[in-house]
Order: sequence, then structure tokens, then C-alpha cells
Amino acid sequence: MPGCTTCGGAAFYTRRYSGETLCVECFKKSVVEKTRRTVSKYKMIGKGDRVAVAVSGGKDSLSLLKVMVQLYAPRRLPIAAISVDEGVAGYRDEALEHARSLCSELGVEHTVVSYKEMFGFSLDEALSWNEERDVSSCSFCGVFRRRAIDEAAARADATVVATAHNLDDYVQTFMMNLMHGDVARLGWMDPAYADGSFRIRRVKPFMEIYEEEVALYAYQSDVPFQSVSCPYMHEGLRSEVRDYLNAMEATHPGIKNVLLRSSLDVISRYSGTSGKESVPCGSCGRPSSGGLCNVCRMKATIEEHVKSRP
Ligand code: SF4
Ligand code: ZN
Repeated sequence: MPGCTTCGGAAFYTRRYSGETLCVECFKKSVVEKTRRTVSKYKMIGKGDRVAVAVSGGKDSLSLLKVMVQLYAPRRLPIAAISVDEGVAGYRDEALEHARSLCSELGVEHTVVSYKEMFGFSLDEALSWNEERDVSSCSFCGVFRRRAIDEAAARADATVVATAHNLDDYVQTFMMNLMHGDVARLGWMDPAYADGSFRIRRVKPFMEIYEEEVALYAYQSDVPFQSVSCPYMHEGLRSEVRDYLNAMEATHPGIKNVLLRSSLDVISRYSGTSGKESVPCGSCGRPSSGGLCNVCRMKATIEEHVKSRP
């Protein structure tokens, strides 16, 4: 392999879409710098913001925490970490341990909220009660997860939540929305779109970085992370879309970057036009599309199942 394109040192990685060869240090710096540019380009963080990084204990989120601390701690911008304990026996505990250990190494405050404490059931309990549900375990879990992240961010006194969605996640979601005929949801993907009905903004600082490079950053930065997957993980269509895009990238390096740019162009035309008016949920008062919000509706279904159990 030729030397590092940036410093001439020993290269270990070829960025196929640009042709650069990079040494470990220049590669890591390039990830940090790209994150900084993304945050600035979409005005993800402003003066006076307090950022909470949502950490699951996996490589992407712990890498994001490390990068955000490097970028913003020297500027005295407060960075905190928040985690959700869904209550999956034998899985989440280890991930939370990794999150705790990195937070203490970086000197970052860590807030954890659990499903059990917030909703009255763990994910293990909810999924065993709700066997005949018509949504996948991840769609079901995701509804509660978003609410729990909001709660953790509020407890951490954050104004912005940064999640570790990378470029691959972003373009996969774009394609899945198209495949589900869910064009109205595209407007919500606009990185510059702020829904005024939610007090805390969501941002994705890794959205322009390939999944492969986030993983490489984690390995090269000694980020401790959990590699086993959640036993309920149900990806369905997403894993087929991922395989397809990876196969395309292998023969056409850079095609995911092009797809990201095209997605952002299409998404900008739908920004703020998600169609659904936001009205307060009849039970909890959070934004909903009418009647009860998804969390209160699903919670009521689970409670019904509990009551009707012999
Ligand atoms: Fe929930 Fe799916 Fe994540 Fe498991 S993999 S914690 S079910 S969203
Ligand atoms: Zn509600």
C-alpha cells in the first residue's frame, strides 16, 4: 500500500471512494473533522446548547461520544451521555457497563432511564405479554425508546440529543421509507428540520460517515463496545437493503455518498410537510397525530393483555 496521502506515514486503510490512503492517526483525525463539518453544515449545535449523546453501548454510539468530547470539551460546550435500559436480560447489562466505563474515562455525566421505571414493564415482559402484536419487536420497542430518550435528555437538562446514525443508516432509512410508500415521513429526515412541538432537537453528527469507517474508528480508538446483538433484533427489509447497498458500493465505490446527496435533495423538498398536524395526546399531553400518542396506545394494549392473562 502506498504511504498516507496526508502525512506520508505508513498507511493502513484505503478510502476507496476518494482514492486516499491513510495512516491510523490521519484516518482518526479525518473522522473527527468530518463530524465537525457535518455539525456545522446543518447547524446541529448552536451557542448555549447542551448536548446529550445517546449511548447504547455499541461501537457507533460510544465512538460518537468520544468524538463529540474531543470536538466540544475544549470549547467548554457541555456534553453528557444518556442511555436507555430496555430490560433485556443478559444483553443490555453488558452494553451499559461499556457505556459507564467510557463515560467515567472521559469524565462525562451519564443518565440512565429504564422502561421498567418509566412504563412499568421491561422489554422482556412487554414482548412476552404482547405475542400477537402486528409490528416487529424493533418497531414496538422503538416507540418506547424514543420516549425514554426524551425523558433521559430532559433529566440531563439537554437541548440537543445526538444519535449515532451513520451514512448507511441514513440512506437505508430513506430507501425503506420509499419502499413502504411512506413519502410523508421523508420530511422528518431533513437534518436541518426542527419540529417546534418537541423541545429537544435530534441531530445525527455521523450521518455523512460510512458505517465501515465508524467501526474502524472504534477499533483504532480502543473504544470498548458490545458486539453481540439484541436477541429481539428484527431487521426484515433493512438487512436486505443494507446487503444490496454494500454490494453496489463494492462495485461502484462512492455510490452511497451519491445516494446520500440525492436523498438530502429529495428530503429537502418534503421538509416540514409531514402532513400530520400535531395535537396533544389525550393521556400524556405529548405531541400526537390525534387521540392517544403511540406510547400511550401501546401501553394501554399491554396493560389489557396483562389484565386478561389467566
Ligand atoms: Fe429494541 Fe430492537 Fe434495539 Fe432490541 S434491537 S433494543 S428490540 S430496538
Ligand atoms: Zn401519550
